[in-house]
Amino acid sequence: MSEGDVAVVGGGIAGLLLAYNLRSEATVFEAGTFGSRGRRCPGIISADTLERLPGALKYAQQFYDSLSFIIPELSLRAEVYSKRPFACKINRAWHEEWLSSELENRGVKLVSRTRVDNVKPVEKSVKVSWSKGERFYRAVVLAEGYPPVLSKKLGLAQPADARIGLFTSAHLRGECETNRLQVVYSPRMLKGFSWLAPLDERRAVVGVVTEVGSDAFETLTNSKKMFTKVGVDMELVGEPRGGYVLRGYTRTLGRGRVFAFGDAANMVKSLSGGGLYGISVAAKPVALMVDAVASGDAPSREVTREVRKILIRLYKGFLLAKRFDSALQTIPPLGVKLDSKVHRLEYDLHEVSLAQILTGVRKLTLKFPQSRIQERN
Ligand SMILES: Cc1cc2nc3c(=O)[nH]c(=O)nc-3n(C[C@H](O)[C@H](O)[C@H](O)COP(=O)(O)OP(=O)(O)OC[C@H]3O[C@@H](n4cnc5c(N)ncnc54)[C@H](O)[C@@H]3O)c2cc1C
Repeated sequence: MSEGDVAVVGGGIAGLLLAYNLRSEATVFEAGTFGSRGRRCPGIISADTLERLPGALKYAQQFYDSLSFIIPELSLRAEVYSKRPFACKINRAWHEEWLSSELENRGVKLVSRTRVDNVKPVEKSVKVSWSKGERFYRAVVLAEGYPPVLSKKLGLAQPADARIGLFTSAHLRGECETNRLQVVYSPRMLKGFSWLAPLDERRAVVGVVTEVGSDAFETLTNSKKMFTKVGVDMELVGEPRGGYVLRGYTRTLGRGRVFAFGDAANMVKSLSGGGLYGISVAAKPVALMVDAVASGDAPSREVTREVRKILIRLYKGFLLAKRFDSALQTIPPLGVKLDSKVHRLEYDLHEVSLAQILTGVRKLTLKFPQSRIQERN
């Protein structure tokens, strides 16, 4: 049986972006069709993440330079005005389609409608099996999303708090600032948060992230009522879409010749569940690690250190999200409206963005238990 360089299991954004950064010959196996996964995600990303995602600028639909952040339990409303756009909405499905065709042009083999059933490390290679065949590879990346079936089997998956994310289109009926993202964060009432991203004067996308077990459709309707209270009149239209939105962290992405990447490894910003930040910052260094392993070398120290830094940052975001939610259970209502002007809202970095949102101070340091972070990594 012949041996290939690298197999990537899963053709969502994590698998595609990792393959895009690989130098080795790669094959991407996708259980469904390429590009279809992006339909489950509205694609709200920071301006920095947009820059890191090859080809994504073409699929940007709207940019945001202000944010309303409302916490009903605290009767707190913060308005943040950023001098430069800090976030945008991209069309995820079109971007993934573009990325797939770009990979094909570069000679990456894309195999659709093929579910990988098993991945087994054997001596100096890894056996990948699917219903109609099997092949040995020098390295394998599991970018299978959530739930991480193969990664779990190989001891690479970490426990994650999965929440339900649901979103739909909305027709706006009154005035609404088109460049303003709105977030209602309510652990008690919504068991999570809801958000509104206008596309133009008439259209928006609205969504919720809530606990598994609560009625996400009802939460979506409730969030519409909440937005009406703060002055946005709209009608929900279209079929709601969604999936699992994660909160979690990972200690390691690789074991021997097998790596986990993306949602399969909980590489998310825990406060929001946004996955594209982690995937976009880590795709290059992780691809370098995979290339090294595929060519029989050990990954360089620099690249290992860089990946470690990214994982620590995501872990800090996880701790902060947990603390933020538990603090909201005990803080009494503040009854305040805050206005902050910042140079650029740090949409990807939880601790900095929360500080900017709540205080308007550009750099406020929140303390983390460093020793525990080092221990865990
Ligand atoms: C409702 C919702 C809203 C979100 N909003 C945002 C947002 O605004 N911004 C943001 O940054 N993130 C957002 N996210 C998170 C983001 O969508 C994910 O982090 C990201 O899509 C994860 O990409 P992935 O490639 O790791 O996983 P996926 O997109 O799940 O892709 C995994 C792929 O692997 C395939 N697969 C699985 N098992 C196998 C197998 N055995 N063999 C072959 N193929 C397999 C699947 O078919 C799938 O195509 C949202 C998620 C949801 C659900």
